[in-house]
Parts: sequence; C-alpha cells; structure tokens
Amino acid sequence: MTEKQNGCKVVKFGGSSLADAGQFEKVKSIITAEAARRYVVPSAPGKRFSADTKITDMLYTCQKLAAEEKDFSETLAAIRTRYLEIAKALQLSFDPSDELDIIAARLKEGATKDYAASRGEYLNGMLLADYLQFPFVDAAEVIRFNENGTLQMTETMALLRNKLKDMPCAVIPGFYGAGANGEVITFSRGGSDITGSLVARAVRADIYENWTDVSGVLVADPRIVKNAAVINTITYEELRELSYMGATVLHEDAIFPVRAAGIPINIRNTNEPSAPGTLIVAGDSADSDAQTGYTITGIAGKKGFCAINIQKAMMNAELGFCRKVLTVLEELGISFEHMPSGIDTMSIILSEDSIKGKEKTVLSKIRQAVNPDACDIEHGISLLAVVGRGMCRTRGTAARIFAALAHARINVKMIDQGSSELNIIIGLLDGDFEESIRRIYDMFVNSVVEEVIEEQNS
Ligand code: ASP
Repeated sequence: MTEKQNGCKVVKFGGSSLADAGQFEKVKSIITAEAARRYVVPSAPGKRFSADTKITDMLYTCQKLAAEEKDFSETLAAIRTRYLEIAKALQLSFDPSDELDIIAARLKEGATKDYAASRGEYLNGMLLADYLQFPFVDAAEVIRFNENGTLQMTETMALLRNKLKDMPCAVIPGFYGAGANGEVITFSRGGSDITGSLVARAVRADIYENWTDVSGVLVADPRIVKNAAVINTITYEELRELSYMGATVLHEDAIFPVRAAGIPINIRNTNEPSAPGTLIVAGDSADSDAQTGYTITGIAGKKGFCAINIQKAMMNAELGFCRKVLTVLEELGISFEHMPSGIDTMSIILSEDSIKGKEKTVLSKIRQAVNPDACDIEHGISLLAVVGRGMCRTRGTAARIFAALAHARINVKMIDQGSSELNIIIGLLDGDFEESIRRIYDMFVNSVVEEVIEEQNS
C-alpha cells in the first residue's frame, strides 16, 4: 500500500484507552510517536473506573427502552455528557450534538440494537479523527456482512483496500459494518479487535498493535496470582488454548484475518506505552529465545465441569462401546471436552452448562446403549490447562507440574496431554482450583526468577 517506507502499523485502542479526554491524550501521543501508526481503530468509550458504565452498554439500554416505547432521555443525556466532555476538554472543532440528535431520532423510529450499539464507536471515531486530524472512514462503507450477519471476507478486503489505497492514514471505527442494503451490523461484544485485524490484513500492515489496559498477556490470571509475569511471545495456537480455557485477551475471531496474512499482533498497554507487551506470532516464527524462559507459556483454567464416569468389565474388548456412548451425547446435542479412559472405565468431561437439565436422560440413554456395571455423574470439577510450545522439547515438565500439586496435597482427577505436547490438561476438584494455579506458577515462574536472583547475587 501507500508510504511503505514509513512502515505500516494498524493500532486498535480499546474502550478503557479512550474512556475520557486524558486517555485520548495518551492515545494521541502513542500514535504521533511513530509515523508508521497510520490506521487507527477505536472502540467506544469504556469504563473510567470500575463502577462506571461503558457507552456501548448505555446505548443498548437506550435501544431497549426505545423498543419498549419508554423514555430513554436520561441515558442518552449521560452519553451526550461523556462525548461533550471529551470534545470540550480537547477543544475539538467537531461537535457531537447533531449526531446525537440523529441517533435519538433513529431510536424513536425503532432503530435496531446493532445500529444503537455501533454509534459508540462511530462517534468516538469522529472525535478521534478530529483530534488526530486524520480522515474518518465509516466502517459501514468498508466492512461487509451477509444477510445472516456473517462477515464477507473477500468483499470486505476489496472495499477496505479500495478505500484506503490513497489514504496514508485514517480512523476506522471498530465493532460494526453493514449488510448489502446498508443496514448496520455489529460483531459480537469486543468486536473492535476484529475490525483492527481486518484493517491490518487489508493494508498488509507490518504489525497489528492492540492497545488495552494491561501490559500484555499474563502467565496466569492476576486475580489468582498477584503480579503475574507478562508473556513476551506467544503463538496463535498457544493463545487459542489459553483463551479457550478462560484467559480473556482478544476477541477469538480477531486472530484469523492477521494469522492468515502472517501479521503479528502486539498487545500493548496505553497506560504504560514503554512496556513491550506481548507479541502473538505464528508457531513457526516463534523464536525460542524469545520465550518467557519458564518452559511453560501460560496457565489458564475454568470451573464448572462434570464427569460422566462409566464402568464395565471387559469394556476394552467391546467393539463400538465408545461410539455408542458418544452417539448418546451427539443425539442430545451435548459436546464434550475430554475423554480419558482405562481398560474397564471411561470418563467424559463436559461443562455443567452443556448437560444441565439433561442429566437423567443422559444416564438412562447410556445405560440402554451399553449396559454398564456403573454409570454416574460427578460434579464440581475444574479444568486447568498448562500451555507451552517449549514443553515438547523439555523433559520433566509433567513431573514438575504434578510434584507441585502433590506437595500441596492436591488430588488430580484427570490428566490429558495431546501428542502435540502443546498443553497438559488437568482435572481437579473446584476447591483446589486457585491453589493449583498458584502452585504451578510458583514451580515454573517464581523458582526461575529466584534462581536468576541467586545467580546474580553469587
Ligand atoms: N464497544 C464494544 C463492546 O463494548 C466493542 C468493543 O469494544 O470492541 O463490546
């Protein structure tokens, strides 16, 4: 694309990065610090403090009230105040009042939820474009969905490329696009991440910087492990494993567009711009030296699982046993997570939500299908994933994990390691969940940090 000599970075800023005028100032100084930061994708203003409400949520509230023919003026006035405060503090020439009047009128006429929610990004994009003196591109013109609300990748790429080819810089609001008839359609919540990824792919960016309020992806949940270390480099595959198990970093669908184009994602902190953050890269370009140095990359987990335990003598010799059990689940529309088995036993681990209300039917259908000696459901299970591309080259990783748990007198209910050796999944009782994460973190991260300090002191 244009001006390749400066390099090209797409920078997406999340809601907390643009929550008020002070945050806008930080964003501007980040963008102006590098000429390559040319395409900017903003979210709607997020929370300024923990009890605050996101603009997107306020817009949903307005739409709901409007649809019920109730008065939404109070919520709309609060939205207006927030945008006007930003515009005034930054002395912008753009006055959002007229746009807000249009939004109010459209809501009264029965505007959709998607239209209402999208206005958060739309207005914030206009404010930011004015503040940066960058041109504004309405995402409805360049992000295309089909009638089912599915993103049209080919058309979107063509529209984005065509629009941006002669624009050295632009602000493109996140989260929404439009259908073929121009009706506004949004991604699911957090979808500005996807817009950033699409723009990065369209302009063939060198990197997609995703600016948020944490200094990168952390090795473990900071609510469980205080001051958890930041992961320097993580592969898309590892990130997917950790995200699946509850680590919230990026919208799941934000990975695919850039991954297919080989563009790395850099998670950065708007409030700490000097921190390098986390680099998300393709597996084959993950430099082993750039690893965290802890063998593992991260630990994540979730509560809320249960196990269907089935026992039958000579189960191993019974052809089709497994298939018959899984057919029961399939017919009831239940998907499972893991299936560890012994000679005469098998367990199926699945989420409590997936089986809720169907427990009795599942057990009776399994009994009919395979006539087991015993079959029951055990509740209160947590799953924990220890993820790391470095594990496949390192002996003793499993030993260290289970030694850490054994020393803490934690009983392991299930172990699962795929042959990719990218992760080890452990099933535990809910009550042991947090302590397990702390113990494993301690074994792999704190012990390494302590060793380094000892070496430095000797
Ligand atoms: N503003 C939208 C949300 O709150 C989209 C985003 O921030 O990515 O989900």
